[in-house]
Amino acid sequence: MKPVIVVHGGAGTIFKDREEGYRTGVKRAALKGYNILKNGGSALEAVEEAVVVMEDDPHFNAGCGSVLNEKGDVEMDAIIMDGKNLASGAVSAARCIANPIKLARLVMEKTDHMLLTDRGASIFAKAQGIPEVPGEMLVTDRSRERWKANLKPESNPAVPQIDLGTVGAVAIDSDGSVACATSTGGLTNKLVGRVGDTACIGSGGYADDLVGATSTTGHGESIMKVVLARLVLHHMEQGMTPEEAADAALSYMKERVNGHGGVIVISKSGGWTAKFSTKQMSWAAVTDGQLQCGIYQGENQITTVEEALALLLN
Ligand code: ASP
Repeated sequence: MKPVIVVHGGAGTIFKDREEGYRTGVKRAALKGYNILKNGGSALEAVEEAVVVMEDDPHFNAGCGSVLNEKGDVEMDAIIMDGKNLASGAVSAARCIANPIKLARLVMEKTDHMLLTDRGASIFAKAQGIPEVPGEMLVTDRSRERWKANLKPESNPAVPQIDLGTVGAVAIDSDGSVACATSTGGLTNKLVGRVGDTACIGSGGYADDLVGATSTTGHGESIMKVVLARLVLHHMEQGMTPEEAADAALSYMKERVNGHGGVIVISKSGGWTAKFSTKQMSWAAVTDGQLQCGIYQGENQITTVEEALALLLN
């Protein structure tokens, strides 16, 4: 099997001055994951590392750069899933760690549970030797400004959310195994303790070697109502291509609950797509030496991996 990786940097509306930052961020993440796959690494490892790159990039709403809750704090959700055996690990309302996706993987591998939340996640992180970072280190000037603006009585932070930036990755490795990973700071000015779709298996992501893998982004409460990631795979089980399945699931979410979002999808045979019902979603994919990337509907910039690497290194 030829390895493939697809990543997203969130569905929503991206401010003009930040577009290039998003493009560069998703390309860098996809290349990092692809390099792991090319060297014989697993899909699981590739999606985790790709997500770490975006959690560390302040453009994205995950890790450093996460949006703030109503009290001005960062609370993050993340999930990882291995298509080989349907093992999955997740954390919700996680605080004061740089890379929630790493903690999610430890939940999967070191506990008999699938989801740890809030204080329990912190206790587990400490026990696993994950360094605590001061909450302030995850907060950017931008997220602080947005939080403040959203506190004004005339603002309506809930709908529509703009400039989101949840991150995710799906991959297939040379053994034909698939995996997904998704990480987010959630929605701006959310209630303390709000858990979104990202931490919920089947909503924020799903991976099954018998079908494929999906990572989602968008309005979490809508995504949870339709269990978006599993819905995409369900359509593929019924014979749809990744693209048809993504379109059908996103249309259903729009029609049924007026929800908008995006998905990246990979099938067990290596077919893939990146689709969204929002104005924009940053995404990148690497297949067989070629890197593709887009932000707008219909946009697909294609370069060779070598060209992309040269540009990123400059
Ligand atoms: N789905 C995320 C949430 O609702 C937000 C996003 O994807 O941007 O927490």
